[in-house]
Amino acid sequence: MSRTTRVRRALAALIVTFVVIVTAAACGKEGSPPTKGPAAEKLPHYEVAQGFELPASPTWKRAKKRGYLTIGVKEDQPYLGERDPATGSYSGFDIEIARMMSASLGFDPKTIRFKTIASANRETALQNGQIDFYVGTYTINDLRKKLVGFAGPYYMAGQSLLVRADEKDIQGPQDLAGKRVCSAAGSTPYQRIKEDFPQATLVAYDTYSVCVDNLLTYQVDAVTTDDAILIGYAAKLPDELKVVGKPFSEEPYGIGVPRGDNALRFALDDALEAREKNGDWKKAYEATLGLSGVPAPQPPAIDRYPAS
Ligand code: GLU
Repeated sequence: MSRTTRVRRALAALIVTFVVIVTAAACGKEGSPPTKGPAAEKLPHYEVAQGFELPASPTWKRAKKRGYLTIGVKEDQPYLGERDPATGSYSGFDIEIARMMSASLGFDPKTIRFKTIASANRETALQNGQIDFYVGTYTINDLRKKLVGFAGPYYMAGQSLLVRADEKDIQGPQDLAGKRVCSAAGSTPYQRIKEDFPQATLVAYDTYSVCVDNLLTYQVDAVTTDDAILIGYAAKLPDELKVVGKPFSEEPYGIGVPRGDNALRFALDDALEAREKNGDWKKAYEATLGLSGVPAPQPPAIDRYPAS
């Protein structure tokens, strides 16, 4: 064999190896869920309302003067609110809700400034004007209504449990006695375990992603929060994690607004209703949360409670 032939053969072998590696990487594991955010072309385009005015809302007026909305969200919840660390861009169902609300209030969604706010800091962020409103797996309840207002609900979740794939003992909250259970500080699931399942050893962090890391490294035995959030983590690591049992609470997701800004709350209620009617809600769901494998449910009825 001549030297040129040998070089050519070696080169050909290298190319074949390269093609095999690239193809394998592109295909991923069969049946594994997409790990990237939603496909941009599947997301709805939200027409910005022209000439929209909401002078009765101090929050809206302040944002109008500034030229854009500042919206509080989560950044570590797959399919709901996720920030791509490489680009800094946010994606997920909650992010789409924020974008459609922005368009309905007359602000181009492209101009939104998203601010990551942890569960325990939502009320303070709304009270001190750090954000105009909040869209991030935020359960509406009477206790929180004393501190903030809620538009919606726009989605109904339920508390559930995430465990390691090989876990056999934990099937539901009744099996948590003596187990280490992780949740986010300031969340309703944390409070429920504390009150209803006091034999569990509760561990709290700011975010659920830290809880999941602790679960993967055997520091805790379960993570508890809404099924919508847990399904996202399990879908990303199907060999290591699973969601067990049936949801054991109702968590209606609302858009948190500054308390007393009833004009903004009612405008968001109107906008949610309109987006559910025109198909944007469903389209947004299918391009985001729907990727975790759960088909689009019927959105819950809007609860337009009296001005407070
Ligand atoms: N929906 C629950 C809550 O608002 C849990 C999810 C969260 O912490 O954002 O507390």
